[in-house]
Amino acid sequence: MTDAAENLADVKNAIRRAARTADRDVNGITLVAVSKTFDADDIRPVLDAGQRVFGENRVQEAQGKWPGLRDEYPDVELHLIGPLQSNKAAEAVALFDVIETLDREKIAKELAKEIAKQGRSPKLFVQVNTGNEPQKAGIDPREAVAFVKWCGEEHGLTISGLMCIPPFDENPGPHFALLRKLAGECGVPLISMGMSGDFETAVEMGATHVRVGSAIFGSR
Ligand SMILES: *Cc1c(COP(=O)(O)O)cnc(C)c1O
Repeated sequence: MTDAAENLADVKNAIRRAARTADRDVNGITLVAVSKTFDADDIRPVLDAGQRVFGENRVQEAQGKWPGLRDEYPDVELHLIGPLQSNKAAEAVALFDVIETLDREKIAKELAKEIAKQGRSPKLFVQVNTGNEPQKAGIDPREAVAFVKWCGEEHGLTISGLMCIPPFDENPGPHFALLRKLAGECGVPLISMGMSGDFETAVEMGATHVRVGSAIFGSR
């Protein structure tokens, strides 16, 4: 086994343990392997180890490596986890199965337009700026419920979940708790939270999706 395949097995075991601790069904938790900055040759061993759900944070970078890998592994599910520019909405809808970073009205409008045009419907998550950080993308937590509702009423978009990236220098627990509470208030079933340093906590606090990069692929 390569390092990354071993790391993948360790991460999956840790998810299983955290699920057991929280008395949750591990099948309700999806591991998104974050492959940003790694190339096809780094990713292939992880695919060969059975992983099929991957996250990328740049549209252009993903376009460079995933169409080729998808020819080899057609059942891959690709998540966009980085900020989406409105002029990249068409390419994002064409390439990704899940877009986790719907974070403003303009993006909702562009995604709705492209979904109608392309007849492709990636699953959508709304990114919430749980720490209210000025430099970070995401909807203000106080506006999350109204925004999710607006996406449906104004553009016919179905929002499947919420996503957050807690401030890196804070205890993530309160942010995970807030996101889970907001998901309940929004009436959306999916919750994407937790990265290499805190995915076990996220699982214990209700994450349905954890996004893990360096713990699998090594440092970037
Ligand atoms: C890079 C990234 C991750 C993965 O981070 P690691 O700490 O390497 O696990 C998760 N989510 C988002 C949005 C990212 O950009």
